[in-house]
Amino acid sequence: MEKENKQIRTRFAPSPTGYLHIGGLRTALYSYLYAKKTGGKFILRIEDTDRERLVEDSVQKIMDTLKDAGLTYDEGPDVGGDYGPYIQSERKNEYLKYARILVEKGAAYYCFCSKERLDSLPDVNGARHYDKHCLHLSKEEVERRIADGEPWVIRQNMPTEGVSSYTDAVYGEIAVKNEELEDNILIKSDGMPTYNFANVIDDHLMGINCVMRGTEYLTSTPKYNLLYDAFGWERPMYVHMPPIMRDAQHKLSKRDGAASYEDLIEKGYLKEAIINYIALLGWSPKNNMEKMTFEQLQELFSLEGINKSPAIFDETKLKWLNGLYIKELPFEKFVEMATPYFEKSKAAGKYDYAKLAKLLQGRVEALTEIPEKINFLEEFGAFDRNLYVNQKQKSDIASAQEVLPKVRETLAGVENWENSVLYQTLVELAGKLGKKNATVLWPTRVAISGKESTPGGATELAELLGKEETLRRLDFSIKLF
Ligand code: GLU
Repeated sequence: MEKENKQIRTRFAPSPTGYLHIGGLRTALYSYLYAKKTGGKFILRIEDTDRERLVEDSVQKIMDTLKDAGLTYDEGPDVGGDYGPYIQSERKNEYLKYARILVEKGAAYYCFCSKERLDSLPDVNGARHYDKHCLHLSKEEVERRIADGEPWVIRQNMPTEGVSSYTDAVYGEIAVKNEELEDNILIKSDGMPTYNFANVIDDHLMGINCVMRGTEYLTSTPKYNLLYDAFGWERPMYVHMPPIMRDAQHKLSKRDGAASYEDLIEKGYLKEAIINYIALLGWSPKNNMEKMTFEQLQELFSLEGINKSPAIFDETKLKWLNGLYIKELPFEKFVEMATPYFEKSKAAGKYDYAKLAKLLQGRVEALTEIPEKINFLEEFGAFDRNLYVNQKQKSDIASAQEVLPKVRETLAGVENWENSVLYQTLVELAGKLGKKNATVLWPTRVAISGKESTPGGATELAELLGKEETLRRLDFSIKLF
């Protein structure tokens, strides 16, 4: 069959060791996008054979996160499919069968070496290379020792000469000297497969023909290819993705906070913005567009756009993107999403949330900024007079001191306490005083908020605060001079 005609099958194969890390989510996203782009299938497989690292509930969390993020898998543990089981431990009886086939072919062998013997092997740069001690045991001896109940493992028999190579879709030709390949354990003494073995068997049995994963597997892939070759199976295509870094030197790790999807959601980022940003961690479209809807991502994604160089996780950029997504939300939706944050603020229950939302929608980059931004509504006290100084707004301390008593007097006479009326009143006052509008509006805003920046101008804030509170604050600030 022509390779091009084959339907692409990609997979995301997380180990259920906790929350979905950003790196994992990116693997899932790219695998999803590539499958969709090519009319293929995206599969979820849970790799749970390392029993010690399992974290309860994490399979459910992984599935929930993928669905929440819109990365619907075509086959997986809960949705089933024709290539099951989708949980590695459920395939556990198969691995030994396949390992025995390799033993028959001479591509693997039983090893009985004790821990003491392995520890006594020469240490080369911190690693002990197994010396193939058990490779030449006779079949009879192997059978007798197994029957005697001696503990054993099965190791891969690596060639000792020549070079193994393959072409990665991102990194190009990868070649490793065979003498550097360790005779990895394929089946552990408890009968369970190692990752090194299980990933190949699973991928083959599940019809995976496109393996997408992090660069940590780039140089062990030749070992996996030797297994495919030994079985006479067709090798999959490989796409390795660049590491995600916290900065030029350090990989992004769980300790950096914001390392999982849940962390980012909790930090007030919208899922659309998270997915958009994660797509850019190691990939860019030909037209270098940055803000892309999920549909656009599906349309624009290509393997050619994946970069070789490490991607740096830049939260400022995520914030910026998130701000754009927040601005675009339908107003009602924004009110709904912002409400829990209003509830957490000092202004909880005291103001009209729709009015607050109107002020905030264009002014926050993350929902978590909301409480801080509106706390001035309930928090007011002495502030630095230098806040009045602003060249662009033609304001300084002296002009503020001159203007504010007049603002107070004028506002005291306003009956209809509404932003547009208040605004008109202050503009007229500025005209009367022969001053620029800003020379009146800027100090008023400072005087009633005590803050350098606020969501909204003087009269928007005044409307929210109400007449009584606005005048009280003006009196307080005038006395402060
Ligand atoms: N379970 C492996 C991991 O979480 C999967 C690697 C792969 O994609 O083959 O790193």
